[in-house]
Amino acid sequence: MSRAASILWLRRDLRRGDLPALGRAAEAADGGSVLVLFVLDPALWKGAGPVRRAWLAATLEAAREAYDGRLCLRVGDPAKVVPSVVEEVGAGSVHVSRETTPAGVRRDSAVAASLAEAGVDWVETGTPYAVGPGSITNGSGDPYKVFTPFSRAWRDHGWPAPATEPSGVTFARVASDDDGWKTLREARKADGLPDLPDAGEEAALSRWREFLDDALTAYKGDRDRADRPGTSRLSPYLKIGAVHPRTLLAELDGRTGQGAQTFETELCWREFYADVLWHNPRSSWHDLRPALSGITYEDNEDLVEAWKGGRTGYPVVDAAMRQLLTEGWMHNRMRMVTASFLTKDLHVWWPVGARHFLDHLLDGDIASNNHGWQWVAGTGTDASPYFRVFNPITQGQRFDPQGDYVRRYVPELAHIPGKAVHEPWKHDEGYDHDYPERIVDHAEERREALRRYEAARGSQ
Ligand code: FAD
Repeated sequence: MSRAASILWLRRDLRRGDLPALGRAAEAADGGSVLVLFVLDPALWKGAGPVRRAWLAATLEAAREAYDGRLCLRVGDPAKVVPSVVEEVGAGSVHVSRETTPAGVRRDSAVAASLAEAGVDWVETGTPYAVGPGSITNGSGDPYKVFTPFSRAWRDHGWPAPATEPSGVTFARVASDDDGWKTLREARKADGLPDLPDAGEEAALSRWREFLDDALTAYKGDRDRADRPGTSRLSPYLKIGAVHPRTLLAELDGRTGQGAQTFETELCWREFYADVLWHNPRSSWHDLRPALSGITYEDNEDLVEAWKGGRTGYPVVDAAMRQLLTEGWMHNRMRMVTASFLTKDLHVWWPVGARHFLDHLLDGDIASNNHGWQWVAGTGTDASPYFRVFNPITQGQRFDPQGDYVRRYVPELAHIPGKAVHEPWKHDEGYDHDYPERIVDHAEERREALRRYEAARGSQ
């Protein structure tokens, strides 16, 4: 029977470098071996949807290689699996990166409680964030509700240097469940998957280096351009922990350009939303600001389906929705435009769109996604954004000025040159290739959205 002195239970930290929990597990093993464990929880697996399942599968396979083939994969409810593996290998401690989402916290409390009964140590070291959610409060000891003061406090707080990898660790060889790796292989072959980027820590670091070399300098100006490869596309790696933000922040240190500053700020948004979720677990699926919870919403399935399929008749909205389906990723500016279109032009409650995004995004993350949606919908962390309604035509003209982004994803419009592609209704051949007519009139729906917001505010 295989023995291990300690267990490193990986979750949203599927890497080997800059992983403080690995250092603690090695320390606790004190020369003995460390078992690296991943538990495939059927409940989470089912809820993740095919795209994130495939991404997790690809990342786990890369992690197995990174741990010299010694990643033990078990299937089942972690509250049962972890204590049973502990008993099987005789480990004295279980090491994790602290989880901070509501579901993660519930799961970990259950596991930690049953380990405590067995006299086994539960050790949390680090989190998936540079500054652990809940660590920063204002002068009165309350959490920040607005981004800018949070970001100042976050910078003042600072973060540790990346963790160095412990040397000479022996990883225990413990058998995985028979069907575990098979389930993962099948997930990678599911029908209709987008083309996945290369998975794993090495791929994440090489994407990062490419971004540093090619795009960081121009990042501040280019990050909003949907037609340019101006952003890092690291979000799927950050989501799954193939790379830690601390690693990135350390490399930005000492770079003084606006690109580096702006990139740091964007990473801070991720930390802010995780902090908001930590303090407001209900905000994952409920309005953060109850003041606007009286808004009336529509439930028109045909319109929602047109939005999901990229057939709204608004070129940039359709391009973005199709980018989501074909790549499992969408440009940030376009996430705002499409979310605004669903909530303000179609008057649909934001969780409907948030669910669709989570089902299709490789980086689908409850904190960033659901608060990003609320930011656009006007129910989230922003002070007075109810009047902000994105115009899907001018947004296209500004952030895809030559129309290249639209033509890339909407073949029915590929024959329209330049920026004219944003207004096919003004073009003689705009509808020659079955591009749909606009499903709503933006100017009218904008007025309607504002009317609904005012009515909700008035009823408070
Ligand atoms: P870059 O511009 O290279 O930014 C670097 C990193 O900073 C990103 O990888 C991400 O981790 C972080 N970041 C950047 N912008 C934001 C932001 N506004 N909020 C939080 N973190 C940010 N991001 C997710 O990771 N998962 C989601 O599920 C998600 N859903 C979103 C839904 C909506 C409606 C909106 C408006 C935004 C959402 N975002 C989400 C934030 C943002 O769109 C993505 O992080 C970004 O597009 C990822 O691309 P990138 O890695 O090239 O970003």
